[in-house]
Amino acid sequence: MREVLSDTFGRPLTDLRISVTDRCNFRCKYCMPREVFGSDFPFLEKSQMMSFEEIDRLVGIFESLGVVKVRITGGEPLLRKNIHELISMLALRPLEIALTTNGVLLPRYAPALSAAGLDRVTVSLDAIDEATFAAITDSGHTVAAVMAGIEAAESVGLGPIKINTVVKRNTNKDEILDLVERFSNRDIAVRFIEFMDVGTTNGWSMEEVVSAEEIRDMFEDLSAINPTNKSDVAKRYSLPSGDEIGLISSVTEPFCGDCSRARISADGRLFTCLFSNKGLDLLSPIRLGYSDEQIASIITSTWNARDDRYSEMRSELTSELQRVEMSYIGG
Ligand code: SAM
Ligand code: SF4
Ligand code: SF4
Repeated sequence: MREVLSDTFGRPLTDLRISVTDRCNFRCKYCMPREVFGSDFPFLEKSQMMSFEEIDRLVGIFESLGVVKVRITGGEPLLRKNIHELISMLALRPLEIALTTNGVLLPRYAPALSAAGLDRVTVSLDAIDEATFAAITDSGHTVAAVMAGIEAAESVGLGPIKINTVVKRNTNKDEILDLVERFSNRDIAVRFIEFMDVGTTNGWSMEEVVSAEEIRDMFEDLSAINPTNKSDVAKRYSLPSGDEIGLISSVTEPFCGDCSRARISADGRLFTCLFSNKGLDLLSPIRLGYSDEQIASIITSTWNARDDRYSEMRSELTSELQRVEMSYIGG
């Protein structure tokens, strides 16, 4: 039976983001700076991570509590071996299933993901200029490889594809118009995300944030598109050309009031906010033999007590708080 949970602000739990690995083949400076995430970084061991069966069981429990959308993320989710097998398990459920990726492994895996029942992909791409891309991602991968990934995903029906671009003032602000231009007339919306103070290792400062308003002002004659869901994070606009862009104003115009998202790390911890400092262990109860009802009851009481609204309360004081890293909790 499907319940509808409600937190202390009356927000339901409808979206679940699941990290399937904390590892990545990129070292984006705003997410996994190489100085911190080097070869001696203590990434999760295989035995610490949820198996596909454990993930599928948890998803079933969340579904019974009102979740309708699942996003597979990481780290880089396509690094998880046989990820299409997880998708084929989840696809048997009446859920929308999406995946966020840096795109370079899509040429290899898109056909299997599509055949397994994945609905669509979001691809992260912060620059069209190869040198700028290389400086951000610090990994030896190329824009051309991401583009090949996007083509591969499109060709097997994993669209409409969305592009996620994190904008930093002194890094890629001047890529904005080029990105829109590159995807023009292709039914691909580019969504610009304000650089966030997730984790504690990315050297965040407000001066580096390019506000959604500033980005809006770079375009003439934008018309706002009505949101399809209250919990949509991007404000959508259409351009006179007919192309669409999205603006995600996590820092300057926070949207905690409609936040119905929960996250689960690859080791099975439940986070009720991107900026939480600790998660609730759901994997131990699973491995200790708890029933679905017992696990559902743990999730229900956690969600009922949820009062997170970090972005609305962001201040010098909150910036001192400990926060988990995005690559661990899942973007
Ligand atoms: N590796 C995959 C990717 O890059 O698409 C999935 C995981 S990544 C953590 C998910 C999303 O989080 C990406 O679109 C990434 O750009 C975004 N992200 C990471 N760090 C961020 C930050 N500090 N501020 C805003 N977005 C961030
Ligand atoms: Fe990897 Fe994605 Fe983080 Fe970049 S944003 S380091 S691709 S997890
Ligand atoms: Fe949701 Fe937390 Fe982000 Fe607010 S800060 S929108 S509560 S994840």
